[in-house]
Amino acid sequence: MSAPSPIAIVGGGPAGALAAAQLAKEGRRVLLFDEKLAWEKPCGGGVTHKALQRYPFLAEAGNESSRIEQNSIEQNPPDYNLPALNLVDHCELISPAGKRARFRLQHPVAIFSRLALNGLLLERARRASADIHKERITRIERADNQNEDDWHLTTPDGDYRASYVILAAGARNPFRQQFLSPISASDLMVTAGYFIPGRSSLMQIQFLKGITGYIWVFPRADHVSAGIAGKMGETSTAELRRVLEKWLEENGFRLDEARFYSHILPSFRAQTFETLEVSGEGWSMIGDSAGLVDPITGEGLYYALRSAELCAHALLVERPEQYRAQLKDEILPELKLAASLSQRFYRGQIFGDSILERMVALTAQSASIRDLMSDLFAGNQGYQDLRARLYRILPSALAEGLMNLGHTFGWRSATS
Ligand SMILES: Cc1cc2nc3c(=O)[nH]c(=O)nc-3n(C[C@H](O)[C@H](O)[C@H](O)COP(=O)(O)OP(=O)(O)OC[C@H]3O[C@@H](n4cnc5c(N)ncnc54)[C@H](O)[C@@H]3O)c2cc1C
Repeated sequence: MSAPSPIAIVGGGPAGALAAAQLAKEGRRVLLFDEKLAWEKPCGGGVTHKALQRYPFLAEAGNESSRIEQNSIEQNPPDYNLPALNLVDHCELISPAGKRARFRLQHPVAIFSRLALNGLLLERARRASADIHKERITRIERADNQNEDDWHLTTPDGDYRASYVILAAGARNPFRQQFLSPISASDLMVTAGYFIPGRSSLMQIQFLKGITGYIWVFPRADHVSAGIAGKMGETSTAELRRVLEKWLEENGFRLDEARFYSHILPSFRAQTFETLEVSGEGWSMIGDSAGLVDPITGEGLYYALRSAELCAHALLVERPEQYRAQLKDEILPELKLAASLSQRFYRGQIFGDSILERMVALTAQSASIRDLMSDLFAGNQGYQDLRARLYRILPSALAEGLMNLGHTFGWRSATS
């Protein structure tokens, strides 16, 4: 009897590469296709403490001297003398009106070059014996007689057969409409950014008036990824780029040797998550392909990795339908809640001012709010119990704010 056809994975970003590694490690035959292999995908590259704890080999990339070994799978080998990541433990939030709150992160955020991160994950897949091809998939077809070998994948260099297809082709997934309806513009963000040579140890987030999104400055080992995101249809890429360039100039960044980037980012509405489909007979979607990105923060790397892990596990136990069920249990409630909070977070008012202004002011004034922020950046504080924690700490946070105001004006407490 001939061996079963392999599982084909379309896309070798974090989602596809991790799924390939996990399946191949357990002896499954895996064909992984990526048109570029490791590349500097437009991204901040920020990986939370929660993700580093779940995938400790990522944190180890900061220590290894060899980091990513020279191998044949990288398009542009990274500088092997540089660490793949930069651990950043200071953050500055800037309100739309320009108020600043700087604080220490209890758990640093690891900021990766995507070239290095993708290279590292692809290398793990290769070592686990996944068969990696630098080819672009141009067509995916299913044979009429639905049997084990029923997927046919075409590239400019050849044809391949597979028993199962995992789509991990990112936000621009060209095959999505073949399996599901395409992502609506209302479920996307546009981004524009620059890779700027230089070093920094401070992560910055600037919230903006009239834009559902923010500017970020994420310092990597030898450069900074600075960018801006906004809802598609609300602000054009050209306008976002203009706002970003002005901000960078005003904040001391030089763009002479910087490299521009732009990309789309899934930012699903709550109703889209409500009816989300991620798999069918013989196929699954993982990572950005499936829209698994936090609509408030734009964090997608954790969800790309976790969805890959869940999908691979479901295939390994021969229960592909388990992937969808586990996603619905573990990931979708959090993303759906973020989607329903997003507009209020960016556009809402509280006590006569915007939520963003209040949030930055409270962060500057209150240690308990700074602890909360630190947990949010670490990925340790979810949205589901955020409200309860806020109710718990808000009275003391407001009191801290009043005390600080008192100190500013030289007031003394009754006991002093
Ligand atoms: C500007 C920006 C900033 C971001 N910053 C952060 C951040 O700081 N932290 C965070 O957690 N998330 C961030 N994200 C989100 C994060 O980049 C994504 O969630 C993550 O890359 C998703 O991984 P993926 O493997 O699903 O898709 P991708 O990383 O997009 O990988 C898809 C792969 O598929 C390949 N491919 C596509 N089509 C084909 C084809 N036809 N044939 C073969 N190969 C194909 C591509 O070459 C690519 O390598 C950001 C996104 C953007 C746009």
